[in-house]
Amino acid sequence: MSRNGTGRPGTGTTDVVVVGAGHSGLAMSAWLSAHSVEHVVLERGEIANSWRHERWDSLRLLTPNWQTRLPDYRYEGDDPDGFMGSADVAQFISRYAGFIGATVRTGTAVRSVSRHGDAFHVGTEQRGWRCRAVVMANGAHGIAQVPALAVKLPAAVCSMSAKDYRNPGRLDDAGVLIVGASATGLQLADEIAASGREVTLAVGEHIRMPRSYRGRDIQWWLTAAGILDQRFDQVDDLVRARRVPSPQLVGAPRSLDLNSLTMRGVRTVGRLVGLEGNIAQFSGALRSECAMADLKLARMLESFDALAVSNSFELAGTPERFAATRVDDTPQLTVDLAKQRIGTVIWATGFRPDYSWLQERVFDQKGRLRHHGGFVAPGLYALGLNFMRRRKSSFIHGAEDDVRDLGSHLVGWLKESPAARAAARMEMRAGI
Ligand SMILES: Cc1cc2nc3c(=O)[nH]c(=O)nc-3n(C[C@H](O)[C@H](O)[C@H](O)COP(=O)(O)OP(=O)(O)OC[C@H]3O[C@@H](n4cnc5c(N)ncnc54)[C@H](O)[C@@H]3O)c2cc1C
Repeated sequence: MSRNGTGRPGTGTTDVVVVGAGHSGLAMSAWLSAHSVEHVVLERGEIANSWRHERWDSLRLLTPNWQTRLPDYRYEGDDPDGFMGSADVAQFISRYAGFIGATVRTGTAVRSVSRHGDAFHVGTEQRGWRCRAVVMANGAHGIAQVPALAVKLPAAVCSMSAKDYRNPGRLDDAGVLIVGASATGLQLADEIAASGREVTLAVGEHIRMPRSYRGRDIQWWLTAAGILDQRFDQVDDLVRARRVPSPQLVGAPRSLDLNSLTMRGVRTVGRLVGLEGNIAQFSGALRSECAMADLKLARMLESFDALAVSNSFELAGTPERFAATRVDDTPQLTVDLAKQRIGTVIWATGFRPDYSWLQERVFDQKGRLRHHGGFVAPGLYALGLNFMRRRKSSFIHGAEDDVRDLGSHLVGWLKESPAARAAARMEMRAGI
């Protein structure tokens, strides 16, 4: 088969189509090239598109530079403890594409993927592709998850997702309500409050985490404790584990938590539960949500201290516990958006992947992709999803292990006889 040989006019033929040229798709491309598997990478925008066009201006990775690596490729600058900004990440990924000699068809959005017998047909606006396997590396954050009640916001209030936010200068001078207090919500609250605007932060379940502990970055601890390597088939409640919010971290040598924000003047309220006219209603569970996050943090630090003892780690600092999150005795349950001059609501309520182009019955009742550690169906694979095979799956350094696992399976699948592949499809249809 020639590299981009054509089967019929307007249709290319190849063994594997990889959808997306973020770090995941490129890492898979490197694996396939190393195993002499003919493939194309189709990218709707540019290489590292999401880092170029879908992040706010000040964003920095939560993972330190020493942790930012891809197969056979790592950060080699002089600031291993620093945190890359989005432009640095885009450059890092683009350099990786050059390093592996990836052939990427940019400006090529995949519009459809459907199975036809032993093959898949991948539709784009330019040309179609016929292939034997598809790797969906189109990212875990394609769509901002905005709660349904957002439609009830008064017309005078600007509604935007964290994907649309760029910097405080693009907001009007009025107050801002940020919904969601994970990494994104906290960072935006911090930046917008620093710009002089009044910020109200709606806080639901969250993970409190210091930037460093006993002289080591928290990512060092999470790695040392084996938490990031925890596998999808080792947890009791995988659905829940995949929905755990991102930890309250910022890519800087400082901690960012609700206490530091309230000291800055940010007002915290409970989870947003209703909107009636100008009145936003909040859950009364703010105190218990914060108490739970404090408790989980204390437990995590206890486990780190025990790990330090059992491994005789040489650490700069001694065990430490952080002040409890300070919450008003009676947090506000309603806010009048008009009276409080709230002009913008920012939804920092998470993301989900966009598979609107996938014409296969591989979704559950809630529309989520059904997969077993990235295996979706015979010949169909996903990459880069939250806790897909390991807790680190959606991180840049998580691609290495996941690509090795799925890539070896894929190479084996391509070598199987057509009869064996047909049997695998039959089994899958029968739910075996
Ligand atoms: C706010 C934020 C902060 C993050 N912070 C960190 C961090 O600190 N450290 C870390 O390691 N990770 C971080 N991540 C997570 C992580 O790096 C991302 O999940 C990563 O972008 C996923 O990589 P990916 O290659 O799987 O997908 P992406 O980087 O999203 O790449 C997917 C590519 O597919 C393309 N695409 C999508 N749909 C189509 C289509 N239909 N046809 C063709 N191409 C398509 C996109 O244009 C894009 O280029 C963060 C993510 C977000 C959103």
